[in-house]
Amino acid sequence: MAFSGDQPPPHIAIIPSAGMGHLTPSCRLATTLATQGCHVSFVVIHPMVSNAESNSMTTFLSSFPSIHPIHVNVAPLTGSGDPFFLQFEAIRQSPHLILPLLNSSSPPITSFIVDIALASTFLPAITPTGISTYIFFTSSASMLAFFSYFPIHKVNKTAAATVGDVEVPGVSLVPMASVPMALHDPEELFTIQVLENARALVQANGVLINTFEALEPKALMALNDGVVVPGFPPVIAVGLLKQLSLKEKMGFPWLDEQPERSVLYVSFGSRTAMSVEYMRELGVGLVKSGAKFLWVIKMKKVDKEEEQVDLEQVLGEEMVERIKERGSMVVHGWVEQEEILKHGAVGGFLSHCGWNSVMEAALHGVPVLAWPRHGDQRVNAELVRRSGLGIWMEEWSWGGEGKVVKGEEIAERVKELMESPAVRSSVARMAAEAVKAVGEGRSSEKNLVEFIAKLKG
Ligand code: UDP
Ligand code: UDP
Repeated sequence: MAFSGDQPPPHIAIIPSAGMGHLTPSCRLATTLATQGCHVSFVVIHPMVSNAESNSMTTFLSSFPSIHPIHVNVAPLTGSGDPFFLQFEAIRQSPHLILPLLNSSSPPITSFIVDIALASTFLPAITPTGISTYIFFTSSASMLAFFSYFPIHKVNKTAAATVGDVEVPGVSLVPMASVPMALHDPEELFTIQVLENARALVQANGVLINTFEALEPKALMALNDGVVVPGFPPVIAVGLLKQLSLKEKMGFPWLDEQPERSVLYVSFGSRTAMSVEYMRELGVGLVKSGAKFLWVIKMKKVDKEEEQVDLEQVLGEEMVERIKERGSMVVHGWVEQEEILKHGAVGGFLSHCGWNSVMEAALHGVPVLAWPRHGDQRVNAELVRRSGLGIWMEEWSWGGEGKVVKGEEIAERVKELMESPAVRSSVARMAAEAVKAVGEGRSSEKNLVEFIAKLKG
């Protein structure tokens, strides 16, 4: 989209929160808007929680010099909670530091896009200025419906009552077992943030979301028709957001040597560690499945705390030997996930179902074996199953709780994933829908063009 000379392009300021699950889609949104001719400023918050965030921001800014960075230092919060939630809170408490830097921008900011985790402190600070403000929701529309309705669900309950099943009007029933674990405790920082952010959403001019209509038609319609929350702002599906074309790319030469669709990629995302006991049993399952695999292991939630890992000590000498015999790979560290998922040798993805991972698998037509671990991931896994993007064994443990899933069981499911023609064809159908959604004049592209036209006023 081009902007005519007499009409200056919109100047959009993007304020992301913390963690790769939030930062990556915010960067993708920034480049999408810049490609459409918008002037984009991007708030870069220091210090960052993980090395993955610092590295990705450095590469992002050097790859896209047209995106204008605004660096801000916030005071980190210390405490015993989840370091990413503490960082959400540190940023939530910083509109007074961040907004003045943006308000002095030239040309002036014409719209803000603020990450969902920051909604309740930034919306009231920006709304009086009259500058339009959109919230960027970084998970599924099903999850947006759940979060938005959650405060209403809570009001109908006594303080002492359990969370219970959550019947999201017009969408679906989220069973208590799929409610993010932190939300079971009303005192948890995450619960307080989620409730405040959800209540603040009505102040936004709209909510942008990285999904597409063919994947979540019911949730998007219920949100937009005010069935979930009366008076809810427009929800604008702009997914799938495209991968960043970065200057430097880490390839994965080992994959080039593997036959087409033969490799299972195994990863639980950027912030989910697994205990040694679970990992050993998972190793048994992977080896038993007979598939070749590329397994990314993670032992600490925050990568800065990861130490050099001796695989033989973690997995046992025999297991390491068997993995080698199979010609499979175990990696401890960061990989370029989307480069892997788009590689023709990859035929399946054992995933925790972080939303970005689900979207990346959908785009590249890789069937998912869902093993959600925490947060929004069970709701996302249900969507994976329902939409035909993959399979989900609902009874498998989550959040480090429950019994260790046996290797035999894992092996059976991996075989099903890699070999089932039904799974493969339903995934291919959804991938085609994903590609279509971003085509010219199609649902997400149309939503994006209309959104930008509105910003131009
Ligand atoms: N990711 C990656 N390499 C890794 C781990 C994660 O590139 O080793 C990327 C992944 O492709 C996705 C993001 O980091 O874009 C993680 O977001 P997601 O929502 O999938 O899960 P989270 O890490 O937030 O739990
Ligand atoms: N989220 C939300 N309100 C908040 C904070 C998070 O709705 O105040 C949503 C957000 O969309 C995210 C999901 O909750 O995808 C899970 O949060 P978390 O940061 O744990 O995501 P992860 O890092 O696991 O992707």
